[in-house]
Amino acid sequence: MRDLAQVHVIGAGLAGLAAALDLAGRPDLHVTLHEATANAGGLCRSYHDARLDRVIDTGNHLMLSANQAVLDHAARIGAAERLTLAEPLFPFHDLASATSWQLRVPDHPLGALRPGTRPPGTRLSDLADLPRLLTAGADQTVAQVIRRRGALWRSFWEPMTIGVLNCPPEQASARLLRDTLKLTFLKGAAACRPVFAPAGLGPALVDPAVAQLRARGAALHFRHPLTALEQADGRATALCFSDGARIALGPRDHVILALPPQAQKALLPQARTPAPGMAILNAHFRVEPTLAAAQPPLLGLLGGAAQWIFRRDDVLSVTISAAEASPLDPLPPGQALERIWTEVAQAAGAPAARPLASRLIRMRQATFDQSPQEVRQRPGAQGPLANLLLAGAQQATGLPCTLESALVSGRAAAALIPQP
Ligand SMILES: Cc1cc2nc3c(=O)[nH]c(=O)nc-3n(C[C@H](O)[C@H](O)[C@H](O)COP(=O)(O)OP(=O)(O)OC[C@H]3O[C@@H](n4cnc5c(N)ncnc54)[C@H](O)[C@@H]3O)c2cc1C
Repeated sequence: MRDLAQVHVIGAGLAGLAAALDLAGRPDLHVTLHEATANAGGLCRSYHDARLDRVIDTGNHLMLSANQAVLDHAARIGAAERLTLAEPLFPFHDLASATSWQLRVPDHPLGALRPGTRPPGTRLSDLADLPRLLTAGADQTVAQVIRRRGALWRSFWEPMTIGVLNCPPEQASARLLRDTLKLTFLKGAAACRPVFAPAGLGPALVDPAVAQLRARGAALHFRHPLTALEQADGRATALCFSDGARIALGPRDHVILALPPQAQKALLPQARTPAPGMAILNAHFRVEPTLAAAQPPLLGLLGGAAQWIFRRDDVLSVTISAAEASPLDPLPPGQALERIWTEVAQAAGAPAARPLASRLIRMRQATFDQSPQEVRQRPGAQGPLANLLLAGAQQATGLPCTLESALVSGRAAAALIPQP
């Protein structure tokens, strides 16, 4: 094995898995994946929650058919059937007015000019801000380019920005939102079909990837955090791990750091890294199966604290992005869960219903800070050392901090490993 060039991938989130999958099986390379925790998947993981007695994901994840890298990843690990594509239909409930409606994404974006394809109360003239968004400057925030504060702001621009960029519109990069819209809504219905993983993100995107890496001869080391990266003459020369292991790197060896921004910064302070962003709250409620069955798989909420409800089997899971800006953030978990449940029960048309079990999870720094200043700090795939590549959703992929960005970044890093 020593005559093969070694590639050490650090971090087994989706970025690291994607990079390793591209390289494992190459006859000139041996791939080793080192992961700090006991499991692969990083922020994209499924696990059994004892209080709910159900398998949940580390966070509710919205994927769309525009996420081609996600669909390709599932296909190449033999898990395409573990993802399901739904109709491009987004039901909403406004808690303030107790009204419900559905937004069907038109086949062609010009279809949005027709009444009935926009949220109720919005006028054609509300779309007049769109050209300013499409020509937004790199320093502009969403709130600076979308100036109307009418119905479309409340029912689309604000929730869309918070949901996609985990950042209030006053801070979020207009360009990043624009680029997301170009890949999704501006491509029409075919790009906007919600993608669900009915058995969880782990079974769909992670477990089969790990199995495939093993089958292709890659070595996987869990509970093996990298603690230091030795450098000399512009190259990484050795990797040091928490168990005291030190791996010297040969002249043909490479390292791919597929780490969250803070971990990357600690190991490689000279590389650009965007600052951490805001927290995301997820509240999970196990409910009576009949109540769950009456709910759509995804429901957008307006006029309250809860933003999205995802249903999987008998669990209703609520997402609150940019949590520091939410009135729920300072509340103790029990009170926050009560407030969120009240909204869920109202939206479900069952105000007297009670959950059978509940769990609140606050993911600190769930994404990087997607403001114009920090988007500029996203690094490219070539790291500051000749034999070191960078991957992770925070890389300069042009995409928001998503599964798609993680996968694209991993494959971009792998593509820079020289061919024999
Ligand atoms: C609550 C929440 C909701 C989200 N919602 C969505 C959504 O709706 N849609 C969407 O597409 N995306 C969403 N995301 C974002 C998405 O989950 C991430 O962008 C993506 O999973 C990041 O993958 P990654 O491989 O870049 O990083 P990570 O998943 O963070 O993986 C990095 C890995 O590196 C490991 N590691 C860290 N330090 C070390 C070390 N020193 N040595 C070795 N290993 C180390 C970590 O343990 C981890 O396994 C959400 C994220 C959160 C938290």
